[in-house]
This record gives sequence, C-alpha cells and structure tokens, in this order.
Amino acid sequence: SIVVTGATGQLGRLTVEALLRREVPAADIIATGRDIARIKDLSDRGVTVRRADFADADSLSEAFAGADRLLLISASVPVGERVAHHRRVMDAALAAGVALVAYTSTTHADTATTVIGATHRETEQSLRDRGIPSVLLRNGWYLENYTGQLPRILRNNAVVGAAGSGRISAASRADYAEAAAVVLTAEGHTGAVYELGGDASFTLTELAAAISAAAGKQVAYADLPVAEFARVLAGAGVPAELAEVLADADLGMSRGEMYTDSGDLRRLIGRPPMTLAEALAVAPH
Ligand code: NDP
Repeated sequence: SIVVTGATGQLGRLTVEALLRREVPAADIIATGRDIARIKDLSDRGVTVRRADFADADSLSEAFAGADRLLLISASVPVGERVAHHRRVMDAALAAGVALVAYTSTTHADTATTVIGATHRETEQSLRDRGIPSVLLRNGWYLENYTGQLPRILRNNAVVGAAGSGRISAASRADYAEAAAVVLTAEGHTGAVYELGGDASFTLTELAAAISAAAGKQVAYADLPVAEFARVLAGAGVPAELAEVLADADLGMSRGEMYTDSGDLRRLIGRPPMTLAEALAVAPH
C-alpha cells in the first residue's frame, strides 16, 4: 500500500487523486491526517482512511501498518516542531517496513539560507542518517500562493513582497502532486533528488505585470524591507511567527534560492507544468 500523509490538506488530497488517476486501486491507498472528517469522500470512494498525528507515535504506527511506500508531506506546524514531527514519521515508517519514503522538501534545500530551508535540510539529513530509501521532491513555491491572493492584490492594485528581483520557479499544487504520484508508483526513483518548479520563472515585478495583463488594470510591485514585509503580513492577520517565516522566505527568493531551471517537474509529469498565465486565467478574481 501507499501511505499519503497530509491527505486532509491540499497537496495530499491532490496526490491521492493523482494516484487514483494512475489506476492505483483505492484500497491500496492509505490517506492520513489528523482531521479525517475532511476526507470522508475519499473513504466513500474506497480509499483507506486512517488518523495519523505527527505528534503521536502510536497513531503513526497504526496508520502505517501494511505500507510499502510513503509520501511525507512536510507538516504545517510551527517551524520549531517540524523536524521532530518528521523524524517521528520516519521512525514509524521504518518500523512498518516501508521501502521508500518520498519527502516534499524545498528548492535547493541543501544550500538555502532560509528558516524553511533549514527545516527541510535537517529533515533530508535525518532520512540519510536513518538509511531510509528516499526520493526528495524539492517542491518550489506554489503558484496558488499568489493566485490565492488575487482579490486582495486587485483591491490594492499592488503585489507586496520582499523578494527584490529574485526569480521564482513556481508551479501549481496539482503538478507537484502529479510528480509525487509518479515517483510513488514508478520504479527507479529511489535516491533521486528532484528540483521541482515551473519551466518559466518570474520576478514579483513580472508577476504584477502578468496580473495587470490578465485583469486589464495596472498592478505594481511594492518591494519592502524584510522586517516591514513581516509587519504588513502580521497586520493582514498572518500569525506573527508565520509572518516572519514568510518574509524570510522572500529574502531567500531575493537571493535566487527559489529559482531552478532543472526541468525535473516537466520530465516527471511528462508535459509542461501549468504556467503563471494559465493559473491567473482560471483563478477567482
Ligand atoms: P495544507 O495546509 O493544505 O495541508 C497540510 C497538511 O499537513 C494537512 O493535511 C494537515 O493535516 C497535515 N498536518 C499538519 N500538521 C500535522 C500533524 N501534526 N500531524 C499530521 N498531519 C499534519 O498545506 P498544502 O497541502 O498546501 O502544502 C503541504 C505542505 O507544503 C505544507 O504542510 C507546508 O509544509 C508546505 N508548504 C509549501 C508551500 C510552497 O509554496 N511550496 C506553501 C505553504 C506550505 P490535519 O490538519 O488534518 O492534521
């Protein structure tokens, strides 16, 4: 069986859908998360649904029983807790006899200077330390991080960030999910490190121009100092710690750390990933 953690979230659900499209029998998919009421529809379709809390080792060993492969989707908990959560998942996967762990890391996790980069680097190191056969899916930024803010951007006529002129190789969650489904179902990916992102990168100035073109009105990019961007995010209701982490992520972008021209995503999914223009065309305005 194939375990998907974080299946109650957006990327995990899309991965389960992609596995079903690849004709993995529903009963061979174990979809897990804490709030499994959110995936009752998957259980109605025959997918095995089990509760798994990264903070609770017993829940993990019960959830992973019978698993051959596992997708570890990085936890969306405060950054200080993430690596311990991931190690608990690894230990339960090892005990369950899982033969392959795919992990959703971040672009250039080995060298990234960001807080997020450090948590992914430590998680990747822990996989190696434990000798777990793994594949690293170094997912880039989500296009949805921007398209999801379109109504606010269009209200303010401004994209706000601290990424300077750094290029961002963003792609859609659905394309990252497709790539995860590929490595979980095909042979020959063990030990691979994939730098996943869109084929065409953009700066936030270019993002503002693309939004202007799509919406037919002028939107500008306002580049702020990192600390000020964190204050703007907090002022918009983002929890303080997350605001700091996101502003720090923009600092990493300004240094080019979210750029890749590897082509790995296109090769894995066998087609060009969704572009920014395509994402803007279908996003709610
Ligand atoms: P979501 O917030 O939609 O989903 C996060 C998933 O993680 C949920 O299923 C949640 O399940 C699960 N989860 C969180 N904490 C725990 C825990 N303690 N134990 C078990 N499961 C847990 O995020 P996305 O699907 O959009 O993104 C996936 C991950 O990618 C995020 O968790 C984050 O690490 C990272 N990310 C990447 C971004 C990017 O641009 N590349 C942007 C934002 C996040 P439940 O609540 O049911 O327990």
